[in-house]
Amino acid sequence: MNDPTTVQTFQVGDLTISRIPETVLSGFAPQALLPRWDAEQVQEHLNSLMPGSLDEAGRRVILSTHAWLVRSARHTILVDTGIGNDKLRPSPMFHQLRTPFLARLQEAGASSDDIDFVLLTHLHTDHVGWNTQLVEGRWVPTFRNAQYVFSGIEYEALNVLSQSGADPRGFFEDSVEPVVAAGQARLVDPGQSAFIDNLVLHPTPGHSIDHWSVSMSSRGETAFFAGDVMHHPIQVYQPAWSSVFCASPEDAQKSRMWALQFAADNDALLFSSHFPENSAGRIRRRGSGYSWQFA
Ligand SMILES: [Zn+2]
Repeated sequence: MNDPTTVQTFQVGDLTISRIPETVLSGFAPQALLPRWDAEQVQEHLNSLMPGSLDEAGRRVILSTHAWLVRSARHTILVDTGIGNDKLRPSPMFHQLRTPFLARLQEAGASSDDIDFVLLTHLHTDHVGWNTQLVEGRWVPTFRNAQYVFSGIEYEALNVLSQSGADPRGFFEDSVEPVVAAGQARLVDPGQSAFIDNLVLHPTPGHSIDHWSVSMSSRGETAFFAGDVMHHPIQVYQPAWSSVFCASPEDAQKSRMWALQFAADNDALLFSSHFPENSAGRIRRRGSGYSWQFA
């Protein structure tokens, strides 16, 4: 099994892509993540899931949180920003972490000042955390030279929730608003991706209302950052199994089917948001469905 705390680097054409690890989440009972989880149907795929995707007794799924650093000749990009340090969160898994995330970013060859774009697949607590860090009691943008690119629709929805006092999640104020206040936010619609060459934002709603996935191509090869279209590799085999965190399980399933087809058709290297091990791999067609192979 790959060490989940090490930086892993992949090459896609001229793009150098590194996983910047944050945490391993091993507290979820399978059905607490995927309500339709069926141990018998999982059994058949254990070879491609083990050893890193389930604990030995099969009672806990293992997930990762991390960011993807993408370096091209022109850009240094971070895709999603994990949970973050020092954040006050209702879930103990996310509460007041103290991880050496920025040291790991440095180990991968980038400083926080090098990042020129931060792409957020969606606005959830485990994807926006390192947007900001606590400096002298204030939340300030971690990546001071970056434009933070995210959905205007999700921003507005969270803004309304936050103003009404109904947002119990807390991350809007400490992780999203500070980058807006600093003038570093670039609110976009999917399809509007001309700001970086060879990069496309693909609408993949369902997990959240305006979730998108990201593809980048270089020298005929494709890197695909799926976001939370899937949380665990078993969903490649069982695409109808949506997570408890999905706003619309039906739309999430449709987006998952689209993403599987896109990844297979383009022979893309898929960079997942939460798969364990090295979190990257390929989707292949298998009968009428798909299979997963870690890279
Ligand atoms: Zn997530």
